[in-house]
Amino acid sequence: MTSAKLDGYLVQDRMDQIWLTGFTGESGSVLVTHRGVTLLTDGRFDETADIEAPWARKLLRKKRSIDETARELRRAKVTRLGIDPDQTTLRTFTELQKAAKPIRITAASRIIADLRLTKDAGEIALIRRAIEVAEAAFKKVTASVRVGMKERDVAADLVYEMSRRGAQGPAFAPIVATGASASLPHYEAGDREIRADACLLIDWGARVDWYVSDLTRMVWPGSIPPRLREVHKIVREAHDRAIAVIKPGILAAQVDKAARDYITKSGYGANFNHSVGHGIGLNVHESPGLRRQSKESLRPGMVVTIEPGIYLPGVGGIRIEDDVLVTDSGHEVLSSLPTGLSN
Ligand code: ZN
Ligand code: ZN
Repeated sequence: MTSAKLDGYLVQDRMDQIWLTGFTGESGSVLVTHRGVTLLTDGRFDETADIEAPWARKLLRKKRSIDETARELRRAKVTRLGIDPDQTTLRTFTELQKAAKPIRITAASRIIADLRLTKDAGEIALIRRAIEVAEAAFKKVTASVRVGMKERDVAADLVYEMSRRGAQGPAFAPIVATGASASLPHYEAGDREIRADACLLIDWGARVDWYVSDLTRMVWPGSIPPRLREVHKIVREAHDRAIAVIKPGILAAQVDKAARDYITKSGYGANFNHSVGHGIGLNVHESPGLRRQSKESLRPGMVVTIEPGIYLPGVGGIRIEDDVLVTDSGHEVLSSLPTGLSN
């Protein structure tokens, strides 16, 4: 805030709010000034705020949120307020600008996002837990996956088993894609039945105490078609190569390149149509993005996914995804399910 010449910063994103204050209520914003931290929420979260963030000044809205915020800005003698342009609607911006005059409101992106880039020991422990829960649920569910089951049955079982093991819920709606639907990287789960001659792609994760895991594995209910067997081998090698280069200081783009070059050399460059990975934490997709155009470099404490894939329209798709911690000396793969063809 000092280097951005701000004497106030308004946090509106719920995950930023949770990260910064521990307050989890879904109606809230947080005002940070040189005087302290004010939590603006409503009566439904009165007790939650006392329990989760007793040290913050609590302000229960009675009037319009914008007017309460403007009044609090004046009380704290803020002259230059930063807001995150990615988290602010045009309506909030224009109304706040009007209500808070003559306070200057400026776009200050990435103030919290940059702080969230690297995870501390407590956050890493929660991500580990989210991985454990997801992996245990996967083992339980895939042990009983049978030909003829619907994709959505597998997805529902995964969510149930993760919840039973302590997840708040799934990190996102599990992707369970059989056969040709697996060539759509962000397909969810539908009524298609699992077939013996088709691949089954499962991309799922758990949320534990707000932190998430994000994993993808291929399951083979029957025989493996030779072409997919070959493609799986390529994806697995690309995945291993990307993980191998992870260490502090390496450019995110280099990690993407390690996987992409191998897939391209193998003749499937055009079939790998997304970046190799992304950061995880409170959000399933957060910085750093491991993509070709990225200028970021990796730092100890970052937790990223590595998830190369090859998609063959009309046939299927193969993706393998693991969660990797950047350590002081290199990396640690936090997830542990085997990546091979057998289950
Ligand atoms: Zn995923
Ligand atoms: Zn992912």
